[in-house]
Amino acid sequence: MSFYESLMALEQLPFTELWKECGPEDVKRALAKDKLDEEDLLALLSPAAGQHLEEMAQKAQRLTRTHFGHVMQLFTPMYVADFCVNHCTYCSFSSIYDFPRKKLTLEEVEQEAAAIASTGLRHILLLTGESRRDSPVSYVKDCVTVLRKYFSSIGIEVNPLSQEEYKELAHAGVDGLTIYQEVYHRETYEKLHVKGPKRNFRARLDAPERGCQAGFRSVNVGALLGMYDWRQEAFMAAMHARYLQDRYPGCEIGLSPPRFRPYLGSFNPESDVTDRALVQIILAYRLFLPRSGITLSTREPARLRDRLVHLGVTKMSAGVSTEVGGHTGEGGTPQFEISDSRGVPEIREMLYRSGLQPVFKDWDILAESSI
Ligand code: SF4
Repeated sequence: MSFYESLMALEQLPFTELWKECGPEDVKRALAKDKLDEEDLLALLSPAAGQHLEEMAQKAQRLTRTHFGHVMQLFTPMYVADFCVNHCTYCSFSSIYDFPRKKLTLEEVEQEAAAIASTGLRHILLLTGESRRDSPVSYVKDCVTVLRKYFSSIGIEVNPLSQEEYKELAHAGVDGLTIYQEVYHRETYEKLHVKGPKRNFRARLDAPERGCQAGFRSVNVGALLGMYDWRQEAFMAAMHARYLQDRYPGCEIGLSPPRFRPYLGSFNPESDVTDRALVQIILAYRLFLPRSGITLSTREPARLRDRLVHLGVTKMSAGVSTEVGGHTGEGGTPQFEISDSRGVPEIREMLYRSGLQPVFKDWDILAESSI
């Protein structure tokens, strides 16, 4: 049994009717509870809840400060390779695009690491395009060995791996895994993932669980919002996170609500996720999963990020480049356009002004022998 079986049962729900039937009393019932169930989550994502965002925000803020304090974890992504064997219709790294691909040498990885570390950040997310041939586990492991010299926490966002491969990386010093399903609606998933191993919906869906079993300290899941009905996608992502949290209490399960951004191609998603919808999603996530970290990326504009820091978000990226080598050399082709281009000092200032403490280093792996 994996989340796949749960998903197949959940996708039978008559979402449209359920959301039509949800009224203010359902939202209030959910707001009054400490431990929310599936029905409460549906109520919080319903159109009716759109009229109760203020009450949801107050409770979400209270829960966030109770569980996390007045702090915001900062990190930045580091792209080391943009080779990809997949064709996803929404990404510049797709194999159909012809541009000079890049893969950093270990020397270049070290230069990037030093440049990022000089900003004070000690948490990093290592990213590659999805290609076992061009960025095999051995390459990721070599990069991690370099990064360990500069960072106390290393997360990875790479193609789905086996449990053994995740274990190997955990032993090399990786403590966090981020892997987005992108789209939980299976038909849409098939449509948007035209070619390559990423077409295997289930292999991807089960990857976060393999990460939990391999012993990562944190595992982050999410849907790329805008690809299908946002209410349903947010619902499935939250249910996925709850499934993992219930089974792997020793692993910190986090959620991200990335919205679609412009990229090299011209694909435009059907579902428009407004700022208000994004707020509702983040609030629903916080109320449904009070202990889960919520990550906000630079896909969102600065003015919106400044407001969202009060509503449930616990981790933010800063000083972001979505290009391979973008922190030192000339960089390459960005995976997608970012929206908030502020550097680490500006984000730090914004957080202080908002009454929050920016956290550059939250933990370290103390026993070298354990990695
Ligand atoms: S989303 Fe990932 S797998 Fe898809 S084309 Fe981009 S890098 Fe490759």
